This record gives sequence, structure tokens and C-alpha cells, in this order.
Amino acid sequence: MPCNSCRSINTRTFGGEIGMHFPGLKGLDRPIVFVFPKIQVCLDCSFAGFQIPESELQVLRQDVPA
Ligand SMILES: [Zn+2]
Repeated sequence: MPCNSCRSINTRTFGGEIGMHFPGLKGLDRPIVFVFPKIQVCLDCSFAGFQIPESELQVLRQDVPA
């Protein structure tokens, strides 16, 4: 797939581990949401993108632990 930022086809997919924190001081009391997505990286402009699984996305939407 072409890069979503610059449309280059010079992209590569990597395995990833990402911990997402809720923003602000209130976020310090919230659990970190970990995801292990496939990450598409543009080797020309450095843009990276990934999809969050539905269960973790629900946590982010509702602000509650899974
Ligand atoms: Zn790009």
C-alpha cells in the first residue's frame, strides 16, 4: 500500500509493540494500553501507521481497563 502521507510505494511493514498513555495528569492514574500491531513505515518520509485492535480501541474510547 502507498504511504498515507506522501503516496510513496517505498514502504515496509514491521512488527511493533506500543504502549499508549492517556493524556494529561489524569492519565497517570490510568492503565497503559498495549498493542502489538503490524506497522507500515514509509522509508521515504518516515510516516508510520497501524491499526488498533477493536478490544483495545474500546478501552481507549471508554477510558476503562479491558
Ligand atoms: Zn511517505
